[in-house]
Amino acid sequence: MQGLPAGVRRFLMAACAGLLAACAAAPAPLAGAGPCGDVSGGPDVPWREVAPAVWVWLPAREAEVDERNGGHVAPTTAVIDGGEALVIDPGPSHRHGLRVRQSLRCRFGARVVGVVNTHAHAENVLGNSAFADAQARGEVRIAASGPTIGAMRRRCPDCLRSLVERAGADAMAGTRIVWPDTEVSAGSTLRVGSRTLQVLDVVLAHTEGDLLLWDAASGVLWAGGLVYGRRLPELAQGSLRGWLRALDRIEAWPVRHLIGTTWSTAGRGADAPPALAGTRQYLRRLHDGVWQAMDAGRLPQEAGLLPMASYAGWAGYRERQAFNVMRAWRELEPLWMDGGRAPPSVAEDVGR
Ligand SMILES: [Zn+2]
Repeated sequence: MQGLPAGVRRFLMAACAGLLAACAAAPAPLAGAGPCGDVSGGPDVPWREVAPAVWVWLPAREAEVDERNGGHVAPTTAVIDGGEALVIDPGPSHRHGLRVRQSLRCRFGARVVGVVNTHAHAENVLGNSAFADAQARGEVRIAASGPTIGAMRRRCPDCLRSLVERAGADAMAGTRIVWPDTEVSAGSTLRVGSRTLQVLDVVLAHTEGDLLLWDAASGVLWAGGLVYGRRLPELAQGSLRGWLRALDRIEAWPVRHLIGTTWSTAGRGADAPPALAGTRQYLRRLHDGVWQAMDAGRLPQEAGLLPMASYAGWAGYRERQAFNVMRAWRELEPLWMDGGRAPPSVAEDVGR
């Protein structure tokens, strides 16, 4: 809360005290400051090497947040160079972020100099907590887009409470909301060691301000929640048409490795990482199905309006399909009312 007006600090502290048992837990251990071998944050991170100097910690399986995964449903990645590390999406909790920080120091001899929040979802941003002390000393900068910072201020108190309920108070112990201190936008660069990463764009798609972060040296593009594996995309805070446009943008980029909620690698030749096509196909079918339902005179509140049964085996289907349909309907209805034809920018490339 450094640098916030006193009124905002009081509000957040009050919200924390009123809502969260986790906030009343004993003071968190010094993040990353313990001796190597001290497993206060848990066993060493099972990093996988994406490309030279780029490491990812993937969730054990694609799933919704629950007590078994402790909220770890999105990858945490680190770019390591010259004894420095940049952490992209530090995870759902203080404990998760602590494991990352300690592993980078003990296994790689790297000091974390930066943290990036790709978008404002709890499982991506609450791990900032483990870097609060270093941020306060000016040793770590935490970066996010302007829309993401705004969305965090609106949602984080509630999303922390929600994550404590779903992941469990033990997994979330010691976690507190830590705000980004550095706003980035299209064209911004982030340095770690001798490497420079570039913010390609900030898009309204999966959320209000999804970051597209590019490392030209490795061909890795971080796309936050824009690309899923076998887990139903979450549309709650985003734009269906904006999301489809963002995927087109990604496909046009020479991406070797794509890190969204999963890690997907391009095939030989010009083939894009396959997760891109999977997410796009779901979103297009959602778009076209809702449009056809409006053409057919259906009503948005009808139960089972657009089941899209071929996705029933994906994680999150039961929780999100009906809500995604409602959200898509709300976005598309004004366009349907206005023209009565599917918008050309989407309709033209359906089935591509
Ligand atoms: Zn997300």
